[in-house]
Amino acid sequence: MSSPKVLEAYQWPPSSEALAAQVGLDVRSILRFDGNVAPTPPASARPAALARALADVNEYDRGRYESLRQAVATRHGVGLDQISLGAGSDEFIVLLARIFGEGGTVATVPAFSYSMYRYAASMAGATMIDDPARADLVFVCRPNNPTGEMPEIPDVAGQLVIDEAYADYAGVDALELVDSGAIILRTFSKAYGLAGARVGYAVATPELTAVITSRQAPLSVSSLSASLALAAMREEPDVSSQVAERDRLAEELATLGLVALRSYTNFLFIPMDNPHELVERMLVYGVVLRAYPGGLRVSVRDELDDDFLLDALRCELRGASPPSQSVRHRRATAETLLNVRLRVPGEGRVYVNTGLGFYDHMLQQLAFHGGMDLRLEGVGDLETGEHHTVEDMMRTFGEALDMALGDRRGLTRYGEARVPMDEALAHAVVDLSGRATANISITPDPGMAAHAFESLAQTARITLHVTANGENDHHVAEASFKAVGRALAQALTRDGSLVRSTKGSL
Ligand code: PMP
Repeated sequence: MSSPKVLEAYQWPPSSEALAAQVGLDVRSILRFDGNVAPTPPASARPAALARALADVNEYDRGRYESLRQAVATRHGVGLDQISLGAGSDEFIVLLARIFGEGGTVATVPAFSYSMYRYAASMAGATMIDDPARADLVFVCRPNNPTGEMPEIPDVAGQLVIDEAYADYAGVDALELVDSGAIILRTFSKAYGLAGARVGYAVATPELTAVITSRQAPLSVSSLSASLALAAMREEPDVSSQVAERDRLAEELATLGLVALRSYTNFLFIPMDNPHELVERMLVYGVVLRAYPGGLRVSVRDELDDDFLLDALRCELRGASPPSQSVRHRRATAETLLNVRLRVPGEGRVYVNTGLGFYDHMLQQLAFHGGMDLRLEGVGDLETGEHHTVEDMMRTFGEALDMALGDRRGLTRYGEARVPMDEALAHAVVDLSGRATANISITPDPGMAAHAFESLAQTARITLHVTANGENDHHVAEASFKAVGRALAQALTRDGSLVRSTKGSL
């Protein structure tokens, strides 16, 4: 018997650890613009979403995740017998090449498209051809990876598969072609932010769905992943901010002479002759881009990350001053999952979203008046009340602040501010002492303000005195958060190069 040969297979880019080692950076400084994935997990992806699946993890899901399949079917207005689930849409690409292309021909539309179609054809012993009208199997990548364009759907004689991995960003789909025999592939990896969970699905006629499922492993999606997908489906993904950010990034890139093709996705393709060279140069900043023949692909992240990319490009291409990195920090407990990025000093670009409107607004005030760039997002177990979420959001912020302060060298160290809000008056005094002390008196306290400051003082290792009085608890709290922000802004100003302590350390 001859031994099986190794095929040309999908090439993953190197890990962040390997890239960091290559350029001598800390792994936390690596910013990946090469994955076309969401910049953060969805708010639904937290331990509580997995509790049920974990309690039953000794079992198989004998209904083959019927509630998830039903949710998907309802979303697309098709029958339950028209949905099959797989470990990412890649599973279907490989499977469909075997079912429809084995020993035959496969074409892609456009011809320059997602590399996986080629590897899948090779696994099926199929030949790639240029003419979709003649191929046994045609993959239409719509919108297309890596160019971001929206191809026309061609007339085909063979099996039509439309890969809609990025269709949520385009707001256009081809589901109406299912009844005439097209197979549509969708994924939870992109707009739903669950690439690591590996869940994708195919929408097809009941007859084709039966063909597909009869050739799959009995249950290729894990119950944990199915739970995450179902939890994510409770809300339609909001792609509008990503789409707006993509257009902003495209405009800013154009000012640097990097003109992207019109994109219908969450990434941009910039035609250029030697993209590898720019990819290498940008890696020095921790920025990971992806080179293709004839162009550079840039995934859209969010404002803070994209601005870092733009600053790094300005520095490299235009000789501007080097970009300053944000501190990145994540806190994941059974109660909360929070992601934070913080830059001090920053430009007052703040976004806080934990689902707790009031305290999100308070922390936003603190960071804005503190002259910071802050992006804090995630979610807590709000069903138990606001306590865990407020505490953990302040702890996460405090930990990030401590990281951003480093050895606290060259900082003024002390700061003080008085801030009124209508009838309320707050007074805050801060010392970046390295010792955690809070002396807080807030009357009336809307509930968690004093505890929020105590959590901040503990984790940021600062001394914090706050006195605030008034009639309206909202006014009193808001004045307090602003006062702490302003006091911090003063303490954070630069004052020579010494550590401001006769002990020599803070
Ligand atoms: N189709 C296209 C066009 C893609 O870009 C990708 C991801 N790179 C996939 C399918 C695979 O996605 P997943 O297997 O994560 O669902």
